Amino acid sequence: MNDYQSVINWYPGHMAKARRQLQDEIRRIDLIIEICDARLPYSSRNPDLERLISGKRRLLFLNKSDLADPAMNSAWLRYYRSTGTDVHLTDAARIRGKETTGLIEKATRELVEKALAKGVRKTVRAMIVGIPNVGKSTLINRLNGRSVAQIGDRPGVTRSSQWVRISPYLELLDTPGLLWPRLEDQASARRLCYIGSVKDDVVDMADLTIRLLEDLCELVPDRVSERFHIQDTSLKGVELLDAVCAGRGWLLKGAQPDYDRCYSIVPDEFRAGKLGRITLEKPPAADKQEAEGDD
Ligand code: GDP
Repeated sequence: MNDYQSVINWYPGHMAKARRQLQDEIRRIDLIIEICDARLPYSSRNPDLERLISGKRRLLFLNKSDLADPAMNSAWLRYYRSTGTDVHLTDAARIRGKETTGLIEKATRELVEKALAKGVRKTVRAMIVGIPNVGKSTLINRLNGRSVAQIGDRPGVTRSSQWVRISPYLELLDTPGLLWPRLEDQASARRLCYIGSVKDDVVDMADLTIRLLEDLCELVPDRVSERFHIQDTSLKGVELLDAVCAGRGWLLKGAQPDYDRCYSIVPDEFRAGKLGRITLEKPPAADKQEAEGDD
C-alpha cells in the first residue's frame, strides 16, 4: 500500500457515530478539554472540532510532551498561544490531578464568578475529547484518582457515561469524547499511524515501518544509526529495512532479514520513545523561520 486509502475508507462509519455522540453530549458541557499528541500537534487534532464546539470554552493539552522534543514543545506552545488558544503541555501518565484541576478551574473561573454574581453556585461540566491513543483515558483516571463520588446517569448522556465530581465546582464526564483523526491528507494519515492513533490492523505494517524509518533518518539520523546499528542513513525502502534487520540481528535461517520482527519492533520502539524525544511536525512559524534562514 503506497497511500493510506484503505485507512481512510475504514473510518466513515466510526466518524458518523462519534460525531452524533459528541453533538449530543456537547450541549451540556461548559468546557471542552481537547487532547492531542505533542509529537504531532497539528495532525493529531480533529479537523472538525472547531465547528462542532463553536462558542464553547476550550483547553488544549499537548499530551505525551515527555516523548516530544523539548524545544519543539516550547515552539508549539508559542505558536498556539499566538493564535489565542489556552494551551498547556501535559504528561498524563504522570501529571498530578490537582495540577490539571487547577488549569480547568482557571479556564472556567469567569463562568463560575458570573453565576455567583447572580447568586447561583454553578457547577462547571467538562469533557475530554481527542482522537484515539492520545491519553484521554489516562488523564481521566489521573483526575478521578483523587476522589471520587460517581454522580449517576443524567438524561441524554450515553448510558454508560457518568459524571464524576473532581472538585466542589467541577464535574467531569468520565467517558472521553472520541474524535475522528485527520486522514484526508496523506502525510497526516501516515504520521497518525506512526503514533498508533490508527489501529495497526488496518495499516500495511511493511509500508508504515519503511516510511517511519525513512522519516526518522531525515529527522534524527544519528539516533537511527545508533539504535539500529546502521552506517548509511540515506538508504531508502527495502535497502533500509535490510540494513536495520542486519544491524539489529533480526535474521531468519540463511541470514534472510526477519521483516515481521522489524515491523513489530520498530514502530513499538518509536512509540515508546526509545529513539529519544521526537516531534514530527513543526509549527508554521518555525517552518517560516527555517525557510527564511535557508535563504
Ligand atoms: P486514549 O485512547 O486517548 O484514551 O489513550 P490512553 O489514555 O489509553 O493512552 C494511550 C497510551 O498512551 C497508554 O499506553 C498510556 O499509558 C500512554 N500515555 C498516555 N498519556 C501519556 C503521556 O503523557 N506520556 C506517555 N509517555 N504515555 C502516555
